[in-house]
Amino acid sequence: MHPTSTRPMDALARGELPPLERVRDDVWALAQPMPGGHLAYSFTYLLLGADGGVHVIDPGWDSDENWDRLVAALGEIVPGRSGTGAPGIGSPGTGSPGADAVTGITGTHLHPDHVGMAARLRAASGAQLAMHAVERRALEQHDTRTLDPDEAVERLRAWGVPEARRDELIQHVDRSPAGLVLAVDRELADGDLLPIAGFRVSVMATPGHTAGHLCLRDDDRGLLFTGDHVLPTVFPGLGLGGATPSNPLADYLSSVDALRPYGHYEAAPGHGYRFTGLGQRAAECADHQLKRAREVASVLDEPTIWDIASRLTWTAGWDRLHGFQLLSALTQTAMHRDYVSTHSLP
Ligand SMILES: [Zn+2]
Repeated sequence: MHPTSTRPMDALARGELPPLERVRDDVWALAQPMPGGHLAYSFTYLLLGADGGVHVIDPGWDSDENWDRLVAALGEIVPGRSGTGAPGIGSPGTGSPGADAVTGITGTHLHPDHVGMAARLRAASGAQLAMHAVERRALEQHDTRTLDPDEAVERLRAWGVPEARRDELIQHVDRSPAGLVLAVDRELADGDLLPIAGFRVSVMATPGHTAGHLCLRDDDRGLLFTGDHVLPTVFPGLGLGGATPSNPLADYLSSVDALRPYGHYEAAPGHGYRFTGLGQRAAECADHQLKRAREVASVLDEPTIWDIASRLTWTAGWDRLHGFQLLSALTQTAMHRDYVSTHSLP
């Protein structure tokens, strides 16, 4: 894996905001800061169509600062406009010169660091927001919880969670991520083309991180927008978009396989930096999950999820996991246990 640009990281290390960066003649990356966590920003990608309209992939975390950065970026890249004060045409009253240049919005998945600002952008531009049908359903039902609250108590008991620890977990079951009140106009499915003049960007359904996660592939430019499916600096968590009938790990491994023919493309991820060596990185991501699955398989004789989880290695240390982190650890353990019970490991 080789970074093709580390400018956003370098800027942040100097205490500056990441600059708008040109990826191709008609493609830009804007790193949008986000609060908390170990990832400092998410990437918004701007594709300038042959008709002068801009297609936005993942508008990013919703904040006034990010909104101003996005509008300024649009002003910079759309011909005949300047960053500030350009007359808004086409959508009177939005007060957002630049936003009216946006003709389409696509979300790779439902997390607020990717589509948090989609509602604001959709309202200001009139552009349609497109996402996978599974994400649309989850967003409309506000159902992005990892456990069904009605089933939660029974589930924790079945997992072997000691009674004294159940309350601290229950209060996190119903914690839907903020910023997810969002209307989706158009559903995308594997193989669809995004409506961008002069581009052929194909939709790839890549479930795993969330059940309706999408990668977007531009064969003409050799670019693959990977969302949170494959990232350069961290291994993505799985099953983080609400409960699903399928096993997120099984889904994820198939989705990694789906990238195999495009391993030589430049990866334009949701966080970190753009890079080449996508094939190698995707394989590392699958290996990371399989290694965990093997670890779970080695303690499969333990009677419950709680017992299995307590024998695994955790970065923070098992005894120091509490509340949401503990619930998340148990959920991931259950996912791996279900996977190794029904699949043979390579
Ligand atoms: Zn995500």
